[in-house]
Amino acid sequence: KSFGDLKLQPWLVNSCKILGFKQPSNIQYNTIPKVLEGRDILASAKTGSGKTAAFAIPILSLLSEDPYGVFAVVLTPTRELAVQIGEQFKAIGSAMNVNCAVVIGGIDSVAQSLVLDKRPHIIVATPGRLASHLSNGLKIALKFCKFLVLDEADRILCEDFELEIEKIVEHLPPIENRQTLLYSATMTNNLKKLQLVPMKDPFVFED
Ligand code: AMP
Repeated sequence: KSFGDLKLQPWLVNSCKILGFKQPSNIQYNTIPKVLEGRDILASAKTGSGKTAAFAIPILSLLSEDPYGVFAVVLTPTRELAVQIGEQFKAIGSAMNVNCAVVIGGIDSVAQSLVLDKRPHIIVATPGRLASHLSNGLKIALKFCKFLVLDEADRILCEDFELEIEKIVEHLPPIENRQTLLYSATMTNNLKKLQLVPMKDPFVFED
């Protein structure tokens, strides 16, 4: 197993090497090629399985082919997770100078609007704060966004983020025009709430 087998852009294979990722983890090896093929993903993944890189790597690979506008929106339940995910995007994408905005509560809203005005490639957000920017009329062009990622989807979907998710999804292109990647600690919890984030024939992976 090697990152070189996964049909990634060569610069990313090199980034993984620089970061000391010797070989792809199980979830990375199994799902990265599917993301690159355009599939939606429904995966169970624990912390430590390398799931953040499992979505960050293929998203950055595709982004580097077409770096225009907001390419991906990543939602996660807590501020700490949002910061960590943002850091992984920046580390893995440093060779392409990826512009990644972390949008979380507890930070000055006006300063955050300015960051969002600069057309980030990637937005990593807690649902509440991103939804409130959208409600306040901030024009974030999400119309051509290619990815919606839900990290710890079981927590997002059970922690009363329903209205916020609805608001965010309203601003995204229809599911036919984007990929939806969903990572959850368990496969069974709250799956019925997935109507909120419909998927198209997802590739299912259980770690
Ligand atoms: P996560 O499961 O996303 O929370 O990742 C856990 C840690 O594993 C992070 O610090 C990553 O930088 C690291 N990591 C991700 N993929 C790999 C890999 N293929 N080899 C070694 N470390 C990795």
